[in-house]
Amino acid sequence: MKVPFLDLKSHHAPLLDEINRAIQEVIESAAFAGGPFVADFEKDFAAYCDCRHAIGVGNGTDALWLSLLALGVGPGDEVITVPNSFMATAEAISYCGATPTFVDVDERTYTMDPAALKGALTSRTKAVIPVHLFGQPADMDPILQFAREHGLFVVEDACQAHGAEYKGRKVGTLGDAAAFSFYPGKNLGAFGEAGAIVTGDDELQKKIRTFRDHGQVRKYHHTFIGWNCRMDGIQGAVLRIKLRHLEKSNQLRRSHAAYYDEVLGEIEEIATPLESTCVRHVYHIYAIRVQERDEVMRRLSESGVACGVHYPIPIHLQEAYRHLEFHPGSFPIAERCAVEFLSLPMFPELTPEQLEIVACGVREAVGAGVTT
Ligand SMILES: *Cc1c(COP(=O)(O)O)cnc(C)c1O
Repeated sequence: MKVPFLDLKSHHAPLLDEINRAIQEVIESAAFAGGPFVADFEKDFAAYCDCRHAIGVGNGTDALWLSLLALGVGPGDEVITVPNSFMATAEAISYCGATPTFVDVDERTYTMDPAALKGALTSRTKAVIPVHLFGQPADMDPILQFAREHGLFVVEDACQAHGAEYKGRKVGTLGDAAAFSFYPGKNLGAFGEAGAIVTGDDELQKKIRTFRDHGQVRKYHHTFIGWNCRMDGIQGAVLRIKLRHLEKSNQLRRSHAAYYDEVLGEIEEIATPLESTCVRHVYHIYAIRVQERDEVMRRLSESGVACGVHYPIPIHLQEAYRHLEFHPGSFPIAERCAVEFLSLPMFPELTPEQLEIVACGVREAVGAGVTT
């Protein structure tokens, strides 16, 4: 029996009738670009996040980019983030004409190390983007305190953390704005590309709404040069239905993670992920750390277990950013993560049988790795 890394088909199967009806409704009303289906989803998603505003956009990268733009990040500015994220976190900074700078991550949680921020601060620093990596919220209190002390904006990269909580508060409500992605494989995924910005700031949301729609305040009245970042009507309708199942899905992810923790936690060669005491992790990704990761992954693949690596090259060492002149050794913890992280199958519909296959497969793959 094979275990896929992700199984969207089984996730959608019980929802298909409802989703088909919703898509039909969009087709009949022809509200394809923005419009009422997006507005309804925005309301529901804002309520889910306990936040005043949600603004639907084309994808998570747009959400990061528009948040930064609306906060006034531009050429000459620097924005601090972490190197062990998806490339889009840094790209969004570059799109603004600003320069990404990095700090290393905490050894136990793999999220931004607040104590490292001081070392990256310059007179040009304008904002900080903590990443809630794999569904675990970054340690926001010290990050927010640092930002307040130095007059910096904070944009949460919540693209992997729909429904995660920090000290009892939903992610997305902690910084000035937060970016979510609804890329199909995310905890809340669209039937295509989509994203959202969440913010409690009335002025900021107005600005972002204008930016995403060609700088229009009214039809054909453009107060500044914007862009086209609207969410599709069909995505709004689909996401609104799927949102109702997000809590249940996150709970299932958490219970699968608890099983992995228990069974794999005993294996000496493996470090299982740590959920910090003050957070609710939503396990978009369940990543273990293991030596000879590539070999372990190859063996797992042979026994039918599909794994992933998030991410094999840290952003500061990507060819695209060679002009920033970072070198191996710049951020040792993030660099070690790139070598040792192995993402195991994680999706709500994993069966007990599949979980057991993964756990046994990992045990065997690791055991074999040690004797050779
Ligand atoms: C997915 C993701 C993004 C980008 O989202 P898209 O919808 O793919 O543009 C940004 N940051 C992180 C951490 C992500 O996982």
